[in-house]
Amino acid sequence: MYLELNNVSKSFPHEEHGAWEVFSDINLSIEEHNFVSILGPSGCGKSTLLAMIAGLESITSGEILLEDQPVAKPGPDRGMVFQQPALFPWLNVLENVKFPLKHLSKKDQVTTAKNYLQMVHLSRFTQSYPHELSGGMQQRVAIARALAMDPKVLLMDEPFGALDEQTRHILHDELLRIWSEDQKTILFVTHSISEAIKLSDRIIVMGTRPGRIIEDLSITLPRPRVRTDADVIAMEQHV
Ligand code: ADP
Ligand code: MG
Repeated sequence: MYLELNNVSKSFPHEEHGAWEVFSDINLSIEEHNFVSILGPSGCGKSTLLAMIAGLESITSGEILLEDQPVAKPGPDRGMVFQQPALFPWLNVLENVKFPLKHLSKKDQVTTAKNYLQMVHLSRFTQSYPHELSGGMQQRVAIARALAMDPKVLLMDEPFGALDEQTRHILHDELLRIWSEDQKTILFVTHSISEAIKLSDRIIVMGTRPGRIIEDLSITLPRPRVRTDADVIAMEQHV
């Protein structure tokens, strides 16, 4: 399987109890080019799980394999987008997107960064600074920056949670286009059932205490996917 979690457990050190177990024995297999949404109540471990796949958080026990290789530390094969865009305020848009591209020549850094900024429709804003942009535009810069490394897997932690409805719809369409054109595998944490239905092939619902997967739903869609609001409302009745 493309991305595999085998008996993955996570505990944090805890003052009174010695250890605080967030979840134990999570097993999950994800196919390449799937768009998987993860839902669940606050505190069930969604962000921790994504951070572990990103290699930003250690694994207490079990293993996480990407194409049969353990994901011990962050790598260019996994891009991460957070709820807050976390751009460098002192760098302009182009410099922010170029930032993870240090391994390329100066010329290729610019070409690549401009390519991805075009993809998120920000070509006119390369010289702007983050504080000059709206929240939605900043999040598009963050998405361009994550994509610029050409990761195989895009890990998104409530990336549109802080945005208004209209901006969210625009970014949904952009993300679906990028997903289908670029053959990414996407893991997408969200609070919104309709967002999960609109975007994903598969919805995983996590529960809390103990943290575990309580639902795993596949959705079959016509491709290229165009899911209207009416489709989403109709499908909501079944989830
Ligand atoms: P979610 O994203 O589903 O809301 P999180 O993954 O952020 O949940 O958190 C899961 C649990 O792990 C929570 O109980 C949280 O308090 C705890 N937790 C997360 N990060 C840490 C940390 N660095 N140290 C201690 N506990 C943590
Ligand atoms: Mg979270």
